[in-house]
Amino acid sequence: MAKCAIVNARLIDGTGEEPKDGWGLVIDGASIQTVEPVGSLRVPADAQVIDAAGLTLMPGLIDPHTHLSYHVSTYALNMREMTETLETNTIKATENARTILETGCTAIGDGACRGNIAVAIRDAVSQGLIPGPKVVAAGQMMCGSGGVVDHTYTWGYQENPAFFGTVVNSPQEVRTAVRKQMRQGVDMVKVSASGLPGDPYMDGRTQDLSFEELEAAVKEAAKFGKRVHAHAHDAEGLKAAVRAGVISLHSGEYVDDEGLELMKERGCVFVPTISWLHFRVSEEYAREFTRAFKLSDQEIKWFVDECRDAYETCREAIVKAFRVGAPTAVGSDGAHVFPPYDVVLEMEYFQELGIPPLQIINAATQVAAQAIGRRDIWGTLEPGKAADILVVDGDPSKNVSVLRDKSNIVMMFQDGRVVKDIRSQAAVNPNSS
Ligand SMILES: [Zn+2]
Repeated sequence: MAKCAIVNARLIDGTGEEPKDGWGLVIDGASIQTVEPVGSLRVPADAQVIDAAGLTLMPGLIDPHTHLSYHVSTYALNMREMTETLETNTIKATENARTILETGCTAIGDGACRGNIAVAIRDAVSQGLIPGPKVVAAGQMMCGSGGVVDHTYTWGYQENPAFFGTVVNSPQEVRTAVRKQMRQGVDMVKVSASGLPGDPYMDGRTQDLSFEELEAAVKEAAKFGKRVHAHAHDAEGLKAAVRAGVISLHSGEYVDDEGLELMKERGCVFVPTISWLHFRVSEEYAREFTRAFKLSDQEIKWFVDECRDAYETCREAIVKAFRVGAPTAVGSDGAHVFPPYDVVLEMEYFQELGIPPLQIINAATQVAAQAIGRRDIWGTLEPGKAADILVVDGDPSKNVSVLRDKSNIVMMFQDGRVVKDIRSQAAVNPNSS
């Protein structure tokens, strides 16, 4: 692959360090070779040189908590499972992949999907068949009977590989499920440590899988060199997951002080879902999300109240996590297509809570990479890291909302390839260079 130097830029390296003016970097193939002040940057004679004066360089965003198989036909997963084939859902997921890339994400973690859609999208992107972020893919989420993604129907009890979740009820069943997913090519395992705020079967303050089951997942995945991520809301399920050795927690708003200390001590990343929790505080959402359950008006009111409580608790949890130094990443819990939430909106929610923009960028790059086990290769602009780079018109270290307008991302590199270049009017194309 070609060499390329980007010079004269303001550099945000993703580590949380202050921006540096008049810096540049050299890309050699898929990796960053050097990052230096322009005065000392050695530009190879055969490198293409891009003058980025007045522009900002930053790492590509990483959304460690997406679901490529989500889309807007309904918010109720189990209704979609009854009405849409895996094949149709996969085609819609390709559109999601493109949208996520356009948001500025060069990589994502897919935290569970119907069937094996995330693995298929991962492979299609890496083979250049479709544009999209690099994907660290999970398969179906594992939960206990009656848990958050137990979508077996009360009239049938039939497990189905096209469901979003799979049911496991003992450490041995966990081990079997992990092994089957390894056979299908997943990069990570997603487990449920808690119920869900408003869920009529298991609410957000209830632990789902036991410590023994969570630990079985971690140990079995480790045999294959893979890591485990947990859906977690309640304090006890969350702590059980951290003690079992998961590397990130999706949601987690009911975390207590002990939980935050545990995360800090073990480097387990807190990935809140504040914009999604806020989005759920509406009767319209509640009625659609629970359509299959036919809830009474009183139950709908309870759902909305539970969601409001979770959202307000999440606001406090995020501020506290940054204050105590628990590793915290930004993740959307969406496919960037549920209006109106995506990873940039999540960054804006953090900013509204008073988290400094530079720390938010760190949470959406380096710490996000840590959340999906890729901190050593992705997430910062440092020598040896993947050349996943955004060239931005504006300074996101002053206000992350600069990224809201996609036209401010004037260039985008993914593994050293140009996948967006507004200056040359090139559309997003995985095969351009
Ligand atoms: Zn999720």
